[in-house]
Amino acid sequence: MRVDLHVHTSLCRHAEGTAAEMAEAARAAGLDVVAITDHLPLPPGFDPGYAMGADELEAYVSEVLVAAEGMRSAGGPEVLLGIEADWLPGAEERVGDAVAAYPFDVVLGSVHFLDGWAFDDPRLAGEWDRRDAGDVWRAYFGRLCAAARSGLFDAMAHPDLVKKFGHRPGFDALPLYEEAASVFAGAGVAVEVNTAGLRKPVGEAYPSLDFLAACRRAGVSVVTGSDAHHPLEVGFRLDAAEELLRAAGYESIAVVRGRRIEEIPMGVARR
Ligand code: ZN
Ligand code: FE
Ligand code: FE
Ligand code: ZN
Repeated sequence: MRVDLHVHTSLCRHAEGTAAEMAEAARAAGLDVVAITDHLPLPPGFDPGYAMGADELEAYVSEVLVAAEGMRSAGGPEVLLGIEADWLPGAEERVGDAVAAYPFDVVLGSVHFLDGWAFDDPRLAGEWDRRDAGDVWRAYFGRLCAAARSGLFDAMAHPDLVKKFGHRPGFDALPLYEEAASVFAGAGVAVEVNTAGLRKPVGEAYPSLDFLAACRRAGVSVVTGSDAHHPLEVGFRLDAAEELLRAAGYESIAVVRGRRIEEIPMGVARR
């Protein structure tokens, strides 16, 4: 089963490829299931290059549903309607309204901002030099746990994104991983193994093996995603994701459909 539950489109203004082009790329990559999960519109005041505009959500949903229908009639991979939503003040209303208005299959929860600082934006990476990496890590995990507890999300995306540029805390992060894993388990949210980290300075998938193993011990479900921002990235290194999952003791991955988590044994092909 080859599943990519994290794919962007050009609507977010920092990716290439329409929903139909991403679905076609999923077919070319031999995937069984792909979820298109572009960035939910952000509140006013954020850089417009981070997400689709507030007035574009409806067109986005139609575009994905049309791509899904096209793939259904063409015998291609199953295409799910997803969204990646930031955990920000006011998220309950922003995400809640979107989810009430459209038939999303999967809602990914992300922490990209710490008090307005996009800590993963290469243009703002200089800010890391002015901060203590350990403080940033603690703040990040605090936000991540609050997001998981909110009940808004099906899966927490790139759960240790804070390591993107290779900044590490001066302490053992295992307690942070274990707390997050127990919060995910308690909230019933899945965690994402996201292969984008392999394309970033850190050079490893999100989450680390230690973090993923803590999730396994806590009984947290896992979804897999490429975080593709270009058609050529759809399905990126799913082999590496599976290897990491097996190393952490996982024997199944999950698909989220209609906001419900379904476990599928690894290595079972649908088509
Ligand atoms: Zn993006
Ligand atoms: Fe993200
Ligand atoms: Fe993403
Ligand atoms: Zn992402």
